[in-house]
Amino acid sequence: MVAMAPQDTARRIQLAAALDALRGRIGRACVAAGREPSEVRLIAVTKTYPARDVVLLAGLGVTDVGENRDQEAAAKAAAVRDAGEAGLRWHYVGRLQRNKCASVVGYADAVHSVDSLRLAEALGVASRRHRDRALDALVQVSIDGDPGRGGAVDGAATPENDLWRVTDAVADTDGLRLAGLMAVAPLGWEPERAFAVLAAFAARLRVRHPAADALSAGMSGDLEAAVKYGATHVRIGSALLGMRNTLR
Ligand SMILES: *Cc1c(COP(=O)(O)O)cnc(C)c1O
Repeated sequence: MVAMAPQDTARRIQLAAALDALRGRIGRACVAAGREPSEVRLIAVTKTYPARDVVLLAGLGVTDVGENRDQEAAAKAAAVRDAGEAGLRWHYVGRLQRNKCASVVGYADAVHSVDSLRLAEALGVASRRHRDRALDALVQVSIDGDPGRGGAVDGAATPENDLWRVTDAVADTDGLRLAGLMAVAPLGWEPERAFAVLAAFAARLRVRHPAADALSAGMSGDLEAAVKYGATHVRIGSALLGMRNTLR
């Protein structure tokens, strides 16, 4: 094995401690909810942090990483692969423009932010053109019904952003596999209230699409409430990597 630079050793120790603490939080949340920790997958959201951190996290056993901007994610995924870490699952969790779909499907295994019919179609086209396996697609739902910060809406005024139209479209699109739902707790909402609403949407989705059982919910500040309400994927940035300088 190649010797690590001293700053890498220090960072590795820091990340290992944060990961330990985080696994403890997830474990306790699972115990409180009567769930198995193996039911909750940790996605390390590495946005704004360098590829080196992703490689260190992979060395510590992290299997899933999340990013929210295509340009940053594409470069980072390539750098991580060049460093010899080819087995990670990459999750695209940010807002996605249709002209970025071709790039995203090249490195992502899952996209968590499908929230319109047009995006579902564009992602399907890109997936069929650039991949040999279907892409996991989660439909992002707006818990408070305000589409301003992204997310499809239950009972939207137009079909374009209607939650159930979008989920059905994803399920019907070749190149995509409808995996489940994703949400962010709205600002100013108690996480418990937000994730209770989300859990009801998830239950309705499973009636329509029984295999779509993924629920991507919970971030550094609210993962306990998300686990209580059935999250299968928690997306953790700052609690693992440290506070970001930017608000994203
Ligand atoms: C940044 C981000 C996260 C992680 O947020 P933290 O509060 O740093 O844990 C999770 N989900 C999405 C969609 C994000 O953009």
